[in-house]
Order: sequence, then structure tokens, then C-alpha cells
Amino acid sequence: MSTETFEFQVEARQLLQLMIHSVYSNKDVFLRELVSNASDALDKLRLATLRDDSLDADTSDLHVEIEIDKDARTLIVRDNGIGMSYDEVTQLIGTIAHSGTATFLKELREAQDAAGAEGLIGQFGVGFYSSFMVADEVTLITRRAGEAHGTRWSSQGEGTYTLETVDEAPQGTSVILHLKPTDSENQLHDYTSTWKVKEIVKRYSDFITWPVRLMPEKRDAADTEAAGDAEDAEAAPASASEPETLNSMKALWARPRDEVSDDEYHELYKHISHDWREPLETVRLQAEGTFEYQALLFVPSHAPHDLFTQGYQRGLQLYVKRVFIMDDCEALLPPYLRFVKGVVDAQDLSLNVSREILQQDRQIRMMQRRLTKKVLATVTDMRKANPERYGTFWREFGAVLKEGLITDSDNRDALLTAASFATTHDADEPTTLKAYVERMKDGQDDIYYATGESRQSIESSPHMEAFGAKGVEVLLLTDPVDEVWVEAVGEYEGKRLRSIAKGTVDLGDDKDEETGAEKEKQTEEYAGLLGWMTEHLADDVKEVRLSARLTVSPACVVSDSDDLTPALENMYRAMGQEVPQTKRILELNPEHQLVKALRQAHTQRTDHTELAETAELLHTLAVLAEGGQPKDAGRFVKLVTDRLERTL
Ligand code: ADP
Repeated sequence: MSTETFEFQVEARQLLQLMIHSVYSNKDVFLRELVSNASDALDKLRLATLRDDSLDADTSDLHVEIEIDKDARTLIVRDNGIGMSYDEVTQLIGTIAHSGTATFLKELREAQDAAGAEGLIGQFGVGFYSSFMVADEVTLITRRAGEAHGTRWSSQGEGTYTLETVDEAPQGTSVILHLKPTDSENQLHDYTSTWKVKEIVKRYSDFITWPVRLMPEKRDAADTEAAGDAEDAEAAPASASEPETLNSMKALWARPRDEVSDDEYHELYKHISHDWREPLETVRLQAEGTFEYQALLFVPSHAPHDLFTQGYQRGLQLYVKRVFIMDDCEALLPPYLRFVKGVVDAQDLSLNVSREILQQDRQIRMMQRRLTKKVLATVTDMRKANPERYGTFWREFGAVLKEGLITDSDNRDALLTAASFATTHDADEPTTLKAYVERMKDGQDDIYYATGESRQSIESSPHMEAFGAKGVEVLLLTDPVDEVWVEAVGEYEGKRLRSIAKGTVDLGDDKDEETGAEKEKQTEEYAGLLGWMTEHLADDVKEVRLSARLTVSPACVVSDSDDLTPALENMYRAMGQEVPQTKRILELNPEHQLVKALRQAHTQRTDHTELAETAELLHTLAVLAEGGQPKDAGRFVKLVTDRLERTL
């Protein structure tokens, strides 16, 4: 078979350039990536043979091998796992399949400085390509288990790679790195040092459940003495003839808690999550009894950029008695905890278990319930013990957790206890519902909230005026999901959750007899204007009435208690549902000069043309004030321009 040369896909080329001229100082991680890929390939082969007896593959001694040749300056990472077919090599190695990589590259281009770039590289596992941080040529020879021929891929990383079919290739994959010259000042980067390689494997890959073996070195005995490589000689004086297993292969989740260091947990997290940053929390759970399992879960420190996209792959790996069964096992946690990563190892499941079976399984459901409670309890504990860390958590994952308030009524209380919300009470510190209730004033029966795009837009909306003036605390909800969960939850500790932009507002004044009488008088005075305006604006509003929530603005629009809010309407429409336009209510501030003048004009005049325009303007201004759009922007501009002209 002939050798063919191909060009890397554009993104792949960019990524390679980055690796070659790496700004990333921790080059050691290339070995972790290769060992991690090899370990995955072994998992896949074992699973494939479990599922398919007829697969012609040798699984008698599955392992990873590392071989160093100091003279040739090569480092080989070899596995006898699943391997790749010719087409798979083209797809998986020549292109970048990761959905996150494009985002990564974009952010990287936008990163201003080297430190920013390094931080970004740290956030995205770059896998196989990281070999080019240390190698000037990489060759991969692979044969898919069950296939007759192998494939040889080779590249110097500069734009092109070659591919050829080879007759003889062992089952699995060998990655052969020709190492760049070691820079003499920095011996740290000498990957032909067995000491260095051992140290890296121990540090990053100790928990890998397959043996990672270092092969005896290929070099003359004379060389060893002459080279005076003291470290190597000391570490393993007789290492020349036998392969040495470098990792302990102990599943971390099966080891006693106090025997495992945070670093070890974090390395496992990085292996399974492809996130290079430390996790925020590590959660362990051992269930004994009839259905025995161990879980080791991680809460990441950053939300993935695609958390809210439809095809988002959710989290946990499932093992059965230490045998890897599947990635992204969605039956183990509810969708609103889809960001949690980790491993669950069950004792009594069949190795042949499928996703469909898992969804039905009663024991899996019990497991999901227990894991969910454990994660939520961890979040609540974090809030109490480490507010700063909790702050990070809630910023990253609060919005997705709130989905649970809608879908998981069993855990609603636990979720409400774990949750926190921005509030007018404090500009920086969010509050819990419990703390809000404790601060409620005498006579306040409800928990008030406002929804909107941002804290700022809510705070400047007219709906807030009376609450601000009277010092009544309002929760400021800015996630799209907020409108939905407040409806679903309805109340907390017997206190209703009430939108400040819905229904009528009663902040306690009417209990005062004098103001009650005053109000009544006002209502009578305004009856004519309100009736006329209601009729005149009938296309846009269902009612015009006096307001108790305004102190500064002349008018605002509000929703009826049972109506959909504009944001919800938009949301349903975005989801493709047909929703009729709900008319809203226009409220006027009877203490405002403009409104007073309007009332006078209405009682005095018979020709109401100009008055009608004013009413229309007032309505549009109210819509604008809450961040809405005028129905007819052109007409609005014209009316305002005319008015301004007349003032000059
Ligand atoms: P990642 O491991 O993050 O998916 P890589 O670039 O390291 O990204 O690898 C891309 C894909 O190539 C892997 O998902 C896997 O399917 C395949 N692959 C890489 N190394 C091996 C290997 N040693 N054996 C079999 N397949 C491999």
C-alpha cells in the first residue's frame, strides 16, 4: 500500500501550532494524555469482547507499555487495546472532533497574553496533540481488534500528515514520539530519563486500572556506566531486564478515604473529565447492604460552555466490579446535576447492562435518589463551611440547579435550602430564602421577587419604586429559568412567592384608615380618566388603574396575577409553542404631576385627540421603563419629536 499525504483540518493545524510553540509550561501532561487514551482503549476492548464473543481479540494481558530509547531519543507509549481502523485514524487524529475545541481556539485567539493563554490551555484537555509539545515527529501505528491490517500515521506537526496501511501491526496502538532536543538549561524536560517518566506516571496515572509498565531500556551496559546517570542507577539498579509496573492500579473509590490524597483525587478527576483545572468538591459515598456500590463524585469549578445546549453529554462513568461499563451514564443523576463528574462502581449489576435497562432499573433509581441527596447536602454544607467556594459554585451552577426546583419535587426543600439569590438587601452577598423570611417586616406576608435581564435593569424598573421607598426586600432573579420555578414552587415556609410586577401591590398602607379613605377619594376622582384610557388603549392593555407601587415614575405596566409574563411568553414562543399575546395592565401614579395634569385635561376638554396621544405615550414609556420594546417605534419617535419641537 502506498503512503498518502494529507493536510490537517484548519482547527487541527491551529491547535498543533499552539502545541509546537507551546506557551504551556507543564509539558509533562503529554504523557498523562497518552496513558489516558491507552487506558480508555483497553477499557473499550474489554467491553467489546464482553458484548461480542465472536470478536477476534487477545485480552489475556491488557496493559500499557512505555519504552524509552535514549540513543534514538524516542519514547513509545503502546497499548494492546481496541486500536483504530484506517477511517477512525482519519477521523479521530486528523481532525478535531471535540465540540469544545473550536470554542477553545476562539477564546485562545482572544486571550491577550501568554498567562491568559496558558490558563486557557489548562481548561481544555488537548489529548493526543499535546505530544507535539515534546516531540518533533509523532508516529502512530494501530490495528483495530478483529481487523487484519493496521494503519500507520505520521506527522511532524507542520500542516500535513501521512497515512498508510500496513500488513503487520500488533493489536492496539503504539505512539512513537521522536523527542525534541532537551534544552540544556532545563533538564526537567528530559523525557528519556526513566526517573522522570516513572515520576510522571506515578503522579498523574497511578489510579489507572491497567498496568502501566516501563520496558527495560535499550542501551549498552557500558553506556550506563559512562553516562553516570546517577538517578536512574539508584532508582532501579537492576531494572535493565524486567518490565516494571509503575502504577498501583488501585481504584481510588475502593481505597479507604484517608489513604487517598487530594492530589490523587484531582488527577482522577482530570482523567475522567478532560478538565485540567481542580474540581471544587470531591464527594464520596459507600453504600453497603443488599445493593452495594461506591461513588466518587466531583463538582467542577467551572461550568462547561455547552451546559445548556441540547446534546450536552452528562457525567458519570459506570463501573461494575471495577470493570468500566460506560461513560456519561445519565441514569445515575437527574438532568439538573448533569455537570457532576465521577465514577460509580456497583457490585451487583450485570456486565451486559445497557442504557435502556438502567433507565428502568429500580435499584438504579434508588441509587440516583441517594446520590442526588448526597450532592445537595454537599452544596448546603459548602455554603455553611466555605461561603467563598459556595459563591463560585452558585455562580457557575445555580442556574442549572434551579431546573431541579421545577422537575424534582421530592428534593425541592433540599434544593431551596442549597439555593441563594441576589437581593436588594445586600449588593454583593446573595441571600437564602430562610434569611429573607427572618428579615421580613411585621405585616409583610409574602416573599417578593423581581425578574429581569440584569440586576441593574431590575433595580431601575418602576416596579421597584415603592419597595425601595418602603425598604421592603426584593429578590432579584436574572436567570431565564427563574420565571418558571417561582411558579412551580409557589411558596416557601407558608409565604407566597410574589412577583413585584404582577397583580396588585399592598405594602401595608391600606391598613391605615386615613390613607384608606384618601385612596377611595382618589379612585373616585380618577374614575373618568381611567375608564376613558382603558377604552382608548384597549388594543394594548386590559385595564388602566391607579398604582400603589410607584413613587417616582408616572406609570408602569404589570401583569395580572394569573397571566404569563412577557418573558415567559417569549420563552414559550422560543420553544415553538403558540401563545396568545396577553394584554397587560397599565398603572398610573396618582401623585405624579403628569398624571394629575392628564386628569384635569380629561375633565375639561371635549376634544381628546391630543390627550389620546399623551395616553399612548405614557403607555409606551411604561413599556420602555421595564426594558420592553415599543409596539411601533416609528410612531413613538414621531410623537416624541413633535412634542419636543413644541417645547422650543
Ligand atoms: P480525547 O482522548 O480527549 O478524546 P484525543 O485527541 O487524545 O482526544 O483522541 C481522540 C480520539 O482518538 C480518542 O477519543 C480515541 O477515540 C482515539 N484514540 C486516541 N488514542 C487512542 C488509542 N491509544 N487507542 C485507541 N483509540 C485512540
